[in-house]
This record gives sequence, structure tokens and C-alpha cells, in this order.
Amino acid sequence: MLDHQSIEHKLHEVLSDDNILINEPLNNHTYTKLGGKADFFVTPVTYESVQDVVKLANREQVPFTLLGNGSNLIVKDGGVRGIVLSLKKLDQITVDGHEMIAQSGARIIDASREALTEHLTGLEFACGIPGTVGGALFMNAGAYGGEIKDVLKEAVVVDREGNLLTLPADAFDLQYRHSNIPENGYIVLEALFELKPGNYDYIKDVMDDLTYKRESKQPLEYPSCGSVFKRPPGYFAGKLIQDSGLQGKGIGGAEVSKKHAGFIINKNNATATEYIQSIEMVQKTVKDKFDVALEREVRIIGEDLEK
Ligand SMILES: Cc1cc2nc3c(=O)[nH]c(=O)nc-3n(C[C@H](O)[C@H](O)[C@H](O)COP(=O)(O)OP(=O)(O)OC[C@H]3O[C@@H](n4cnc5c(N)ncnc54)[C@H](O)[C@@H]3O)c2cc1C
Repeated sequence: MLDHQSIEHKLHEVLSDDNILINEPLNNHTYTKLGGKADFFVTPVTYESVQDVVKLANREQVPFTLLGNGSNLIVKDGGVRGIVLSLKKLDQITVDGHEMIAQSGARIIDASREALTEHLTGLEFACGIPGTVGGALFMNAGAYGGEIKDVLKEAVVVDREGNLLTLPADAFDLQYRHSNIPENGYIVLEALFELKPGNYDYIKDVMDDLTYKRESKQPLEYPSCGSVFKRPPGYFAGKLIQDSGLQGKGIGGAEVSKKHAGFIINKNNATATEYIQSIEMVQKTVKDKFDVALEREVRIIGEDLEK
């Protein structure tokens, strides 16, 4: 059992009061609008205080979980025990020549817009991805032929012991929606992107075109976690789901989108349990019909509600 009072006291030794929330509902911090409460929700404002929180969690054996913008996460209805670390207050973006340093809590959409302002090309693909820089690196996020791997030069991380490291891009083993960050337990603090000089109007046209494609094809009017499944080799997840006749179907308030079969929307106050059951229902149906195993892209964290 965690000694909540003692943890709260120790958190106050390393963070100011306004950077510690107790029993914070996580549905306020996830794109699906799902999830129970975090025991402690902390928002450090310096790299040193991130290191302090990691060391405190190690010393006191408190579990801690990292949250970006919650756009690729489902938090279960029972919430998350221990410390949830949000880096949303570390959100500076600076540009020097062709290089951009973006702190991990900055939105990758804002990094993409900043590149446009500076007439730099390379981040257009990210103009509609609703995650943070840290979450985008963790997932090697990508769209429309581009991915983080193409532009990352190096990143600053905190390791499991609380040490600050600067690592080159190839240290992260970036592949399709994969990095080795979970295995290594790194917390990304900032990313250095190497961009190229470009033409403002051309970059803007590309971004406008990608935004139009996204808005016309994706059910952005409903809470969701984007594409639920990775692309299975040789197939498209959305097409398999569509051909299984699953659009409009779901459990409780969750529904396979009629606009984009790869999305499951929180249409009517779904619980996380209903959302997860809908994912499993899709996986089972597609497996039975086409013998293809759909692997989740979205991550699930937290605990079920106690019965
Ligand atoms: C409408 C919609 C459209 C989307 N479109 C795309 C798309 O086109 N392409 C695409 O790739 N994805 C897409 N996504 C998914 C999502 O936006 C990306 O995966 C994004 O990179 C997740 O970032 P996040 O900050 O929201 O991370 P979260 O969802 O908060 O977290 C995801 C994982 O990253 C870890 N993490 C977060 N921050 C850090 C950090 N600083 N250091 C270490 N680990 C960290 C978390 O612990 C968690 O395990 C979409 C999602 C939605 C809702």
C-alpha cells in the first residue's frame, strides 16, 4: 500500500504547490475523454525537478507513469496509482538556423507551425498529429509519408536512475510506430530536429492539403484516440474493419466510426471498459473473418474499477 500522505509531503519538497494535483481525473487529460483518477498528477517546470521526481519515485518505490497529450492512450476507469508525470509545462520551441529544439511538452503541431513560420521544411507531416513532442518521439509518430525518424537528430532524456543524457537519433531504434523508449524507461525532455530551408508558400500548401485530408476523412468531431490499430503487413486496418461490416457497431457509448473505420469514437459517454471491449470485439471479428491479427497502436494504462 502506498503511504499517500508521506508521498504528498515528499512531492512538496521537490515541486511547488501549483504543480501537484491530488486525485486528478484523467479524462480531462485524454483525447478519448476516458479514465479514472491519478493519485498524484505532477507538472514539473524544470529538467532538474523531473530528475527529482524520478529519484523520489525510485527511493520511495512509487510507481510513476508518463502522460503526454493523452492522444494515444486509454486510461482505464479505475485510474492510475502513484504519480502521473505530465511535461505539458515544458513546452518551449526555439529555432537556430535549420535546427529546432522542442521541449517534450510542446505540441508537435506547434513545432510544425513554427517550422512554417521559419520557412523550414521537414515537419509538415506532423501538422495534424495531436500529440506532444515527447509522445511523438515515443511512438515515432508519422503521417502521409513522413515520420519523426526523418527529422530527429538527437534528444535529451532522463533515464531510470534520474540521469540526464543526450542521445543521437539512432539510439532510439525508431521504426514504424515504435521506439525503444519504453524498454529503456527514458523520459524525453527535448528533441532536436534537423530541418531544411524551404519555401513558405509551398510548405503552407502541403500543410493545408494534409489538414483538408484529415478533416474530411477523420471523425474529429468526436473524442477518440486516432487510429486504434497499426497497419498489418499487406493490409489496411480500416479496410479490414469496414469489410467486416463493423462501422457503426460498438459496445455501450463507444462506436466504430462510420467516417473512418480505423477510429473508435467515444460517441455517448462511453466508459473505458466499453471502449476497450469495442477494440477487442473488432480484433476478434477481423481475426475470425480474415485471419488477420490487428495489433493495437493505442496504449492502455491504469486499473479497472474495483468491483
Ligand atoms: C485524432 C487523432 C489523430 C491522430 N493521428 C495520428 C497520425 O496521423 N499519426 C500518428 O503517428 N499518430 C496519430 N495519432 C496518435 C497520437 O497523436 C500520437 O501517437 C502521438 O505521438 C501521441 O503523443 P501524446 O503526447 O498524446 O502521447 P500520449 O498518448 O500521452 O502517450 C503515448 C505514450 O508516450 C509516452 N510518452 C509521452 N510523453 C513522453 C515523454 N516525454 N517521454 C517518454 N515517453 C512519453 C507515454 O508514456 C505513453 O506510453 C492521432 C491521435 C488522434 C486522437
